[in-house]
Amino acid sequence: MTSKFTKNHGSTYICGCCNKNTRETGYGESDLQLCKKCYVEGGLENEHSDNGGAHENVEVKNGIAYENDVACPTCVAEVEAAAKPNRYPVRRTDGRLVMVSVPEDE
Ligand SMILES: [Zn+2]
Ligand SMILES: [Zn+2]
Repeated sequence: MTSKFTKNHGSTYICGCCNKNTRETGYGESDLQLCKKCYVEGGLENEHSDNGGAHENVEVKNGIAYENDVACPTCVAEVEAAAKPNRYPVRRTDGRLVMVSVPEDE
């Protein structure tokens, strides 16, 4: 067993944002010591603010942009704010915001 901190795709590290143990998945997220989710979220947030809420080349569902199943936090905040007055059912699943049109049994 060696404990050399070599940078390879198999080594894990702690995400500087959410403190989860994570590893490089090919996005280059290890350069920023972030997990893929935090890295993609940061990119989506930047795009959102740069383009006034418009996203390109990503999937948009229910007004929320997703890149590789990671939701844009700014979109989520806007949808949550818009949903509040109507008490529209919204469910958060592992960081993802899901619109619930029919109440589900837990
Ligand atoms: Zn993270
Ligand atoms: Zn967005």
